[in-house]
Amino acid sequence: SNSKAVTERTAVAPHVGYKKVLVTGGAGFIGSNVAEYLLSRGDDVVIVDEINDYYDVNIKESNIKLLQESYPEEGRVTFYRGDICDEELMENIFKTDQPKWVCHMAARAGVRPSIQDPFVYIHSNIKGTTQLMELSHKYGVENFVFASSSSVYGGSKSTFFSEEENVDNPVSPYAASKKACELLAYTYHHLYQLNISGLRFFTVYGPRGRPDMAPFKFIDRVSRGVEMQQYGDGSSSRDYTYISDIVDGVVRTIDRRHKYELFNLGKGEGTSLKKFIGLVQKHVGKKAIIKVMPDQPGDVPYTCADVNKAYEYLGYKSKIPFEEGIRRTAEWYKTTYEKKEVQVCSEGQGCAPSMAA
Ligand code: NAD
Repeated sequence: SNSKAVTERTAVAPHVGYKKVLVTGGAGFIGSNVAEYLLSRGDDVVIVDEINDYYDVNIKESNIKLLQESYPEEGRVTFYRGDICDEELMENIFKTDQPKWVCHMAARAGVRPSIQDPFVYIHSNIKGTTQLMELSHKYGVENFVFASSSSVYGGSKSTFFSEEENVDNPVSPYAASKKACELLAYTYHHLYQLNISGLRFFTVYGPRGRPDMAPFKFIDRVSRGVEMQQYGDGSSSRDYTYISDIVDGVVRTIDRRHKYELFNLGKGEGTSLKKFIGLVQKHVGKKAIIKVMPDQPGDVPYTCADVNKAYEYLGYKSKIPFEEGIRRTAEWYKTTYEKKEVQVCSEGQGCAPSMAA
């Protein structure tokens, strides 16, 4: 296939010395968890995040506050609030902070909102990623890792997705924007030998999870005894990946330089919506009030990651069983939100109840 023809096995031995890592989107769900892990092992992080209002900004602000308070020493957490497309800001960061590793997690996420407002996806995802690759080349970055998405497989016929799959049929502007990032990443590798890897995450959930995504929504609705929407008959199945597994995969990719590679990061196992809702009820300890809705355009009925390549190249293996992940997430929700008024997105207002991301 295409990706095989242009790449050979290029992993070098893991480099686990001290790093200064630029984490874009570090106020968000995955970025803040990656930053926390890097800090915990002694690396320093430089975070850029515009803290947009795609979901409650208080969540993102408290993620940054948590990192800063946990690592108050000078130089551990450097935070810039701004747009990754802002050339002056970004150039200044590369000049003064000199990060040699880039973990690019900033993006507009969400499938359905991208159908309503495609231009913000083109801006943050395509222009933003190009801006970062341009500067990474200019300032001699050692390794650039960026978030792609399982949604690139959306238009594909198979149900068990490997990186070999043809992904030329993105079915939403979000998916197309991620595919565009993968193409541009190849270009930057080809032109400038930038070491760059794209990670196709499969529906990520866990503590600090996004309130616009099904795992958070289900736990939230069931906890509060509020009606929740189930799209389709419950037989649709998805590969849900617990956040610590994703962090592990991201960091493994940062630690090993590759020339140009794409990797699936998932659990490698599908769970049906029916089973998922059952486990939420069990671990929240309440019954769900379900409203069944028709399937949504852009949603795929089944996703399951083939994670063999990530295992072979990175030693990546998912460790958290689905039920354990739901148990931990429900517990986190309880301690975080029990007595607070949760600000949830009203349906149809940007935060669509999308299963995909
Ligand atoms: P998130 O929305 O919690 O985090 C993204 C962060 O990026 C936000 O804090 C946002 O403010 C910031 N951001 C967006 N555009 C920006 C810009 N132009 N400049 C600066 N900051 C900007 O989302 P997440 O779930 O943590 O996702 C992280 C990455 O993983 C994204 O690239 C997303 O597309 C990808 N992804 C996530 C999932 C998932 O299940 N969560 C699945 C597949 C791919």
